[in-house]
Amino acid sequence: MAITSVYAVLGSPIAHSLSPAMHNAAFRALDLKAVYTAFEVDKQHAETAIRGARALGFGGLNITFPLKELALRYCTPDALSKRIGAVNTIDCRGSGYNTDGMGAVRALEESGVTVKDTTVLLLGAGGAAKAIAAQLLLGGARVLLANRTASRSLILARQMAAANIDCGCGDIEAYGLNDVDRLLPEASVLINATTVGMRGVLEGQTLVTAAQMHSRLVVFDIVYHPLETPLLREARAAGLHTIDGVKMLVHQGAASFVLWTSLEPPIRVMEEAVRKALKGANGSDEEKP
Ligand code: NAP
Repeated sequence: MAITSVYAVLGSPIAHSLSPAMHNAAFRALDLKAVYTAFEVDKQHAETAIRGARALGFGGLNITFPLKELALRYCTPDALSKRIGAVNTIDCRGSGYNTDGMGAVRALEESGVTVKDTTVLLLGAGGAAKAIAAQLLLGGARVLLANRTASRSLILARQMAAANIDCGCGDIEAYGLNDVDRLLPEASVLINATTVGMRGVLEGQTLVTAAQMHSRLVVFDIVYHPLETPLLREARAAGLHTIDGVKMLVHQGAASFVLWTSLEPPIRVMEEAVRKALKGANGSDEEKP
């Protein structure tokens, strides 16, 4: 009898992670003898946990807050995750990947957006913005990066531009939030990759309102708790096409699933499981992928 393959997400806090619901639904749908669980792991125990999972023959790992950067040291990262400086996926051979940006780009593509030669206004310069910027540039987009701390967007843009020399892809420019009004008419896509709008102290806030949006803009908020953020509400009020954060979450998970199993992921089943788990978690803290 075949033994059960074990997969897990490591991070802290991890109790509200949506990944077990998403991946176990996928395993069930494909009738795989596999199980996905979540382990509370702090920075101090990251190395032991990652090496231990490999020694125990785990099928693969997801790595989430606050271990994504640290985990780079305990795997063999691919070129993209090295460029981003963080991994969110490790396979059974100890190879590391970052599927966050891919999740965002696939969410855009699913909505009919072609990334190549598209101008994207990306708000934020944190971990998620970095992964998304790297993937957008690989896809040949023009990225206008605007962050509250403008020096941070400048540093990120410089890093990405330097790393881009060898791939010859899209362009990236750095701005502050004061420039958003002026940049919006140039953009076809607006992505919020800040924590603004997220459950907690920034809940109910938005960096862009309906009055600032033009009629051809696609608005994507990667925040998924709450699912309907003020930014998405504004965009819907303006009659625009919107994409919510669950789409990115599911597509980054699906990309991890392919890296581990080489199988076609049951995307719809995974999305349904995440939306159901989110509904059940209504009122809890911010979930981690
Ligand atoms: P992070 O590294 O902590 O970065 C936070 C970003 O938000 C920074 O750019 C920060 O600007 C900005 N920010 C914070 N407070 C602000 C404010 N009051 N006004 C304007 N900007 C503000 O966080 P992260 O890991 O990138 O995550 C960002 C969000 O994406 C979180 O809500 C997370 O849950 C979500 N996320 C979703 C997915 C998904 O799959 N859907 C995946 C990853 C993350 P400064 O640089 O000026 O501080």
